[in-house]
Amino acid sequence: MKLTTWGACGTVTGSCHLLEEQGFKLLLDCGAYQGEADENNSAPFPFDPRQIDALVLSHAHLDHVGRIPRLYHEGYGGRVYATAPTLKLIEPILEDALKLQKEDIKRARRKKLPVPELLWDESDIRSLLERSKPLPYYSSRRIGPFRVVLKNAGHLPGSAFVEVHAGGKTLVFSGDLGNRRKETLPDPDYPPVADLTLSESTYGDRPHRPFQETLVEFAEVLAEALDAGGKVVIPSFALERAQEILFYIRRFEAEGHIPVVPVFVDSPLTTRVSEIYGRIQEAFSPLVQSFYRRGIDPFAPKKLRYTHSVDESKRLNFLEGPAIIIAGSGMLSGGRILHHLRHHLPEPKSAVVFVGYQPRGGLGHKLISGEKEVRIMGHEVPVRAHVYSLGGFSGHAGRDELLDWLVAEKRIVLVHGEDAARQSLARRLRGSGAKVTIARLGQSFEV
Ligand SMILES: [Zn+2]
Repeated sequence: MKLTTWGACGTVTGSCHLLEEQGFKLLLDCGAYQGEADENNSAPFPFDPRQIDALVLSHAHLDHVGRIPRLYHEGYGGRVYATAPTLKLIEPILEDALKLQKEDIKRARRKKLPVPELLWDESDIRSLLERSKPLPYYSSRRIGPFRVVLKNAGHLPGSAFVEVHAGGKTLVFSGDLGNRRKETLPDPDYPPVADLTLSESTYGDRPHRPFQETLVEFAEVLAEALDAGGKVVIPSFALERAQEILFYIRRFEAEGHIPVVPVFVDSPLTTRVSEIYGRIQEAFSPLVQSFYRRGIDPFAPKKLRYTHSVDESKRLNFLEGPAIIIAGSGMLSGGRILHHLRHHLPEPKSAVVFVGYQPRGGLGHKLISGEKEVRIMGHEVPVRAHVYSLGGFSGHAGRDELLDWLVAEKRIVLVHGEDAARQSLARRLRGSGAKVTIARLGQSFEV
């Protein structure tokens, strides 16, 4: 078979790879670019979508699924294979992406800027869902000349790495590999020794901080602000990170590390994802499943409330007493988090806790760097609240876990990482005898 890397080369977004065998074209992921690289989303596909025969997905993150509706919009008519939890989760993820596209268009019109074109619409999400086929872990599926098996990647509920067999050869695509210390998700499976392993390398140059340290610090930060009667504002991604934060808040309450206070989830997308969580219980760790079996929602602190309307969200500004507010977007690129920050940053009793990556130059990065005044929605806002950034919540394997997962592999192609991370990981892998390539966009490999 022939592999061509058509995305996530030197970046951590835009995952998309093409496999060809006997004229059959199988796509692995078709993700959106995010952040600075997002102009790539409107560039033409490097292949004709009408010529693609089938699509297999690793997991539901937007950078792995965000361009699928556009694939349908431009004539793709084939199936989409993924685990059942992944197929449930992609619907709200793509609807949210469509909403953001429409908001960008409105904003451009209002500000008389060049108006971006709508790349796809609701009907393309419907086509995708109608053509989707659940593929359970460990079951072997014939797709044209390929035999495909999904195994647990431990990165999101339903996340998978993909084994593809054809012509007597085996290719493994890691998708995104999970962080083994996650208590809410099952540990990633190990891959078979393959003829070629296409691997992510997000944290290829650094190990993670011990998670126990992160948890202790998180509990201390929460207790200090809440005991002082302050609010804690936590910007978070809607899928997985927000629910993991709720899982630990619930535990800290139950173990008496923090007082029981109202916890508000102020993000419509997080609310939808949390609803789905209750319907995909089999996708979680044995620990989480044991809670569900006892009738306990492990992702629900005692006074959890989901806010729905914008008015409800704004009313949180006038709330008396201690509380925790979780809102999106996780990287502060928009969303309800901005008005919470504007309101709470000037308050010395309050705390802002970052639990995810903040891009350089962005508002989150400025706050973490200790700036005393920031600009939010056109206002200068003084920073008097405590600002914390907790490493360790990453959903990805750290360097040592990647090395462990790849230990038996002989021929490795690295994608889904910045170049520094890929080079550092490649050096270590070569040191133990593997043949490693840092893939360029459009590079082909014969397997
Ligand atoms: Zn991911």
